Amino acid sequence: ARPMVAVVGRPNVGKSTFFNKVAGKRISIVEDKPGVTRDRIYTEVEWLSYNFTMIDTGGIEPDSDEIIPAQMRRQAELAIETANVILFMLDGRAGLTSADREIADMLRKSKKPVVLAINKVDTKEKSDYFYDYYELGLGDPNEISSSLGLGIGDLLDEIVKHF
Ligand code: GDP
Ligand code: MG
Repeated sequence: ARPMVAVVGRPNVGKSTFFNKVAGKRISIVEDKPGVTRDRIYTEVEWLSYNFTMIDTGGIEPDSDEIIPAQMRRQAELAIETANVILFMLDGRAGLTSADREIADMLRKSKKPVVLAINKVDTKEKSDYFYDYYELGLGDPNEISSSLGLGIGDLLDEIVKHF
């Protein structure tokens, strides 16, 4: 079977923007504000000699005291279970949040290979938070701009290394 790559991260980090960029079309709905629940959306990706399926996971606005709402957590857990490689997306402009740390805990427990994508790095300057991401214990951060299409090829290279 084709390897499965799940794009995971808290709402609004740019998962769907990334997914659409890689898919080469607008499949996934990009939201300016988190708040809409989306089903998981799939696309087939061909990179170098590799073919894999990528899953975009949706998110919902936290509306309770929970850091990660139960529904989003279940969706993320299912994606993590199904996936061979997890692409964990973070917002390089926002820095680490408690929701990011909560997802990181889930990912470490899953023992699945994780690739870190630090999104919204739209210039050549490193994110102000670049070195903080090492704290997650999930490997090296890879800076990208999904909007501008920067760093995407290098990131896909890192993903296919795990197949
Ligand atoms: P998701 O909730 O993680 O799927 O995030 P979306 O893809 O819906 O994006 C959330 C917001 O971040 C939207 O306003 C996007 O236009 C914006 N965004 C996504 N990627 C980038 C990026 O690389 N740079 C900047 N500046 N904004 C981005
Ligand atoms: Mg989305």
